[in-house]
Amino acid sequence: MAKYEWLSEIEAMVGRQYGRIYAWDKINEAMVRQWCEIMGVDNPLYTDAEYAASTEHGQLVAPPAMLQGWCLAGYGDEVLAPGSTTENPYEVLKVIESHGYPAVVAVNSNLTFDRYITMGEKLYYTTVLDSVSEEKTTALGTGFFVTLKMTYFSEQAEGQEDEKVGDMMFRVIKFKPAQRPEKPADKKEAAVRKRPKPGISDDNRFFWEGFKVNETRIQECNSCKKLQHPPAPVCMHCHSFDLGYKVASGKGELYSFVVMHYPHVAPFDSPNPIGLIELEEGVRIPAGLIGLEEGVSPKIGQKVQVEYHTFDGELTLPQFRLVSPEEL
Ligand code: ZN
Repeated sequence: MAKYEWLSEIEAMVGRQYGRIYAWDKINEAMVRQWCEIMGVDNPLYTDAEYAASTEHGQLVAPPAMLQGWCLAGYGDEVLAPGSTTENPYEVLKVIESHGYPAVVAVNSNLTFDRYITMGEKLYYTTVLDSVSEEKTTALGTGFFVTLKMTYFSEQAEGQEDEKVGDMMFRVIKFKPAQRPEKPADKKEAAVRKRPKPGISDDNRFFWEGFKVNETRIQECNSCKKLQHPPAPVCMHCHSFDLGYKVASGKGELYSFVVMHYPHVAPFDSPNPIGLIELEEGVRIPAGLIGLEEGVSPKIGQKVQVEYHTFDGELTLPQFRLVSPEEL
């Protein structure tokens, strides 16, 4: 451990003992019941007093796996229970962090249970900084394995020695994260991702083929002359199967819109504005919006004009450009 000057400071900390951290509450039935419910534990030894009385324990006991949980700090500012030490058993992590190892991952913990704990007992634990490894490189990055050992006690009446009930070996790696792949590689991957293709059927083929010749074709009933969108096999107004289409002017206004900021979905732009366009013929179609100035939100009722753009060299789609009235 002579690689860095500051490691001697860490070396000097190994073996340091930290004071008591108390449980907020005595071992109690309510917390045990809630823990069992959350964890899906249905052993009646923990929750059914009558059953527990019939066992070798003679009374309810707490699930051993709750050991660490009893002495955890509160939420928020991590408030420790009254009587707890003000020392920070994790101070070594702060020292390592200050030398350029910002990340932490708990890698393993081993719990050992000396005996069952019963209702009404009050626990506390003490901590020893057991070891700090030499600098190591793992898939996560380069850093140090820090091992702490917590010993759990049940507080006894005055004059009696507190009883050790278990311990926990807790190991974390404090590290500099490994470098991520460089950005240009990500961009290249996004660039090859293609637009999803529409599902084309006999009912809507005219609609999608229209875009190839720069036409926005709206389904028209040959019987009642009404328009409908999206295309369907039957007229929704008169139920006629005799359907054709009308070529729309491509002019309309914004009926509604959404601007997708997150998640970023390749190959779409980000942010990705999508409009519901009310065509001047009276039907609405959803389509991508173009011509938005950065930071300016589209407005309901804003005039739009269709443009046709071909994506991936094979798919022509309508997009609607937001325009001011005098441009129409
Ligand atoms: Zn009709």
